[in-house]
Amino acid sequence: SPLDPRRPAMDRIHVTVRARPLPPEDAQSSPWRISGNAVALTAQPSIRFEFDRIFGEDCHTADVYGARTKHIVDSAVQGFNGTVFAYGQTNSGKTYTMRGSANEPGIIPLAVHDLFRTIQQHMDREFLVRMSYMEIYNEEINDLLVPEHRKLQIHENYERGIYVAGLSEEIVTCPEQVLKFVSFGESHRHIGETNMNVYSSRSHTIFRMVIESRDKADDSDTDSCDAVRVSVLNLVDLAGSERAAKTGAEGVRLKEGSHINKSLMTLGTVIKKLSEGIKGQG
Ligand code: ADP
Ligand code: MG
Repeated sequence: SPLDPRRPAMDRIHVTVRARPLPPEDAQSSPWRISGNAVALTAQPSIRFEFDRIFGEDCHTADVYGARTKHIVDSAVQGFNGTVFAYGQTNSGKTYTMRGSANEPGIIPLAVHDLFRTIQQHMDREFLVRMSYMEIYNEEINDLLVPEHRKLQIHENYERGIYVAGLSEEIVTCPEQVLKFVSFGESHRHIGETNMNVYSSRSHTIFRMVIESRDKADDSDTDSCDAVRVSVLNLVDLAGSERAAKTGAEGVRLKEGSHINKSLMTLGTVIKKLSEGIKGQG
């Protein structure tokens, strides 16, 4: 199983590509061709990249969800942590995939509906679900559910592990309630931003659900730690990947501090180290 904790970390990181349709105004066809789970340059097929899974431009978000995310949501209900990142250049379809559009719901609404449906199937356990919604902009963490909560700090302690101090958590009991909070979080982000596209290309949004459950049959009053399961599901819409690149003239980069997104670069480093770490693991 991909969730077996004994498996090396990279085995539990899966990379899926979703190709978006080219905009109608873009007459040129893509220089890339998808074949199976690889993508290659049409003009130079030796330049080829393989992934765990590739979805073509005519796929639906629900297909991507069903094949690549549903099991992560199911596992979160069972007590395993899971995270989905949308990574890619600005305009590649990250927000379309994660949040959805008028045409089709995104991974977030699909996961939220599925989560509550799955919970109802676990008749033997009782659940408490909380959600939070935050953004990282200019390396500062802002609470999207409480607009006054800005520049929040990351802390770590034994009991909670790594956490964002002061981040609000709302107890939620149905999908509609969760999605209302998400819309609220989105609505006040726009205030004062003349160019939403530039803004969103620089910020990460982290939608998080904390799922707590306990066995209904366990009527012991003591809160024994085995009885309560807590897991976290993170659905993340990352800043545009062009902000992770160390390209461009050094001078320009220094002057324009916002050109590089530090946290995005760090994420790249972490994933690279994890993949290298496998070789060194005994
Ligand atoms: P990003 O968040 O990566 O910057 P968006 O999700 O905002 O990109 O997508 C850019 C544009 O392309 C939007 O107008 C969006 O509606 C459209 N788009 C993205 N992916 C798809 C898709 N799979 N099908 C149709 N339109 C898409
Ligand atoms: Mg976006």
